[in-house]
Amino acid sequence: MTNPANPKFTDVRMKGFGSRSTVEAAVAWIDSSLANANAVDPDRTEPCGLFELTGRILAKDIVSRINVPGFTRSMMDGFALRADETYGATAYNSLAFQVIGTSFPGRPFEGTVRSGTAVRIMTGAPMPDGADAVLPVEFTEWTENTLTAMAEVSVGKNVGAIGEDVADGSVLLKVGRVLRPQDAGVLSSIGCSSIPVVRRPVVRILITGNELLPAGTAPTGYQIADANGPMLKALVERDGGGQALPQFVKDDRSSLRAAMLEPADVILVSGGSSVGQEDHAPEILKELGTLAIHGIAMRPSSPAGMGQIGSTFVFLLPGNPVSCLCAYDFFAGRAIRGLGGRSLDWPYAKKDVVLTRKLVSTVGRVDYARVKISGTEAEPLAISGASVLSSTTQADGFIIIPADSEGLPPHSRVTAYLY
Ligand code: AMP
Ligand code: MG
Repeated sequence: MTNPANPKFTDVRMKGFGSRSTVEAAVAWIDSSLANANAVDPDRTEPCGLFELTGRILAKDIVSRINVPGFTRSMMDGFALRADETYGATAYNSLAFQVIGTSFPGRPFEGTVRSGTAVRIMTGAPMPDGADAVLPVEFTEWTENTLTAMAEVSVGKNVGAIGEDVADGSVLLKVGRVLRPQDAGVLSSIGCSSIPVVRRPVVRILITGNELLPAGTAPTGYQIADANGPMLKALVERDGGGQALPQFVKDDRSSLRAAMLEPADVILVSGGSSVGQEDHAPEILKELGTLAIHGIAMRPSSPAGMGQIGSTFVFLLPGNPVSCLCAYDFFAGRAIRGLGGRSLDWPYAKKDVVLTRKLVSTVGRVDYARVKISGTEAEPLAISGASVLSSTTQADGFIIIPADSEGLPPHSRVTAYLY
């Protein structure tokens, strides 16, 4: 490639990648850098209110300091009475009680249930003193002052014990949990209004490419619309990153350099990641920090790179939209999930499928193949170029052909990841 007569061709950037890292090496670099990041800043947490916590990651164990319920309560609408006084009651041998009052939720009956008496009680209402069971209303006939019991109940029947929902001192929710709507409910029930969650990583999306028009603009002439910005924003949100509006950056060194110096936990650079004339990002990353990995033995996405500027992770994602998606999913998403306390695993459902036709691959390279799935059959898409983003919208998912494989024959059983 070197041509002494033409200094342009001595430019290292025109030589192409000398060698490529393996996917495993890139993933290993991410994982060890994540371990360092967590060692440096183990307390990346913030308080989160009850109404916002669904989907957030719990940053410490939640131990209840109270019992729920804090009082014995009725589990049914019926009558609170003494269980031993109902023994033998049936529809044909009913027993009579005097009704001495009513217990409502939040408004208990203040007196005591003595022999021969009962208190009308609602679900969730406190049990009156002296009563040890609730006879459900469907086994009774009653008036204002009288109860006719037509079934017997045992001690404790239809009564909720103190702490039966949540016991004082118990671990209610464990650190690392992805919080669910019902967690907000149970936290509220123990009087908790705010909990510590893992802070969302701040992610900045830099879209390079002088040929690009803002997302959603009709392409004109040789200008094309930015496909990666809206896609990356959605991916970042999926993986728990904070709001990350894409920012356009001109394909020139100083603009890109300035943008890469802005503070963030993760910077995604779309485009210009390779070794061409306008591919400034790798050189800038090398100058400002470390370019740990550049060029990866995979298809698509081989011109991807990654490194750090201080503690900021920087991912260089190829501009071709399929490569951009693939490189994001293999590498950047992993780092964002890791920094946010989430599982490093892909957030895709898996399905065992059988290939309808062969898939060729090259030994030494990981392939990312889009497939259409019907039932348990997976059909590789014919059009699979890195620039054909609609291959990912036509596909139902993708399969990974490992580096040591020459390809997969028809009828191979493989795991598909569902988009
Ligand atoms: P690059 O990685 O910058 O060399 O770009 C590779 C190819 O992807 C070129 O054809 C670009 O025009 C195209 N491309 C780059 N960025 C985007 C983008 N954000 N949206 C759609 N296409 C892009
Ligand atoms: Mg470009």
